Amino acid sequence: MSNREIAVFESSLGKYDYNRPYKCDKCGGIMIFKGVGEYECEDCHALAYDDYGKARNYIEKHPGATAGEIAERTGVSQKAIHQMLRESRLEIASNSRSFMKCGICGANIRHGALCEKCATAYHRNAEERERAKRALSGYGVELMKGDPGAMRFFNVEQI
Ligand SMILES: [Zn+2]
Ligand SMILES: [Zn+2]
Repeated sequence: MSNREIAVFESSLGKYDYNRPYKCDKCGGIMIFKGVGEYECEDCHALAYDDYGKARNYIEKHPGATAGEIAERTGVSQKAIHQMLRESRLEIASNSRSFMKCGICGANIRHGALCEKCATAYHRNAEERERAKRALSGYGVELMKGDPGAMRFFNVEQI
């Protein structure tokens, strides 16, 4: 995945990134994408969810929930829920929709904006950018030196 492909994908998303958690609430570590809206702190392993993860968890426990109910119980805005429905990231009713295309590689997917492979690569890239941002601002310089993640940053084009 090239940085250009990522930029094109991001501009198609607009500014809304589902309130993705970047920083651990407990220790300030970088949150690593695990899949389906779930993130884990690379230092203390605390879990956190973006809007998609929160809404999805709620629907799993409460099948048939309405958008209004999900918004009220999870704190995710109705606007965000409608956006996820439109993008078919959420399936409130059983979904017989035919395949959609991954926003980066064009593979057929059942739901979401990206196939699993591109979603993981995309989030890895976001994590490395967060790491680079910290290194630039002086915060986390020690991390760049000793951390194997520093290598990954330079190899991101070859993933
Ligand atoms: Zn943490
Ligand atoms: Zn893909």
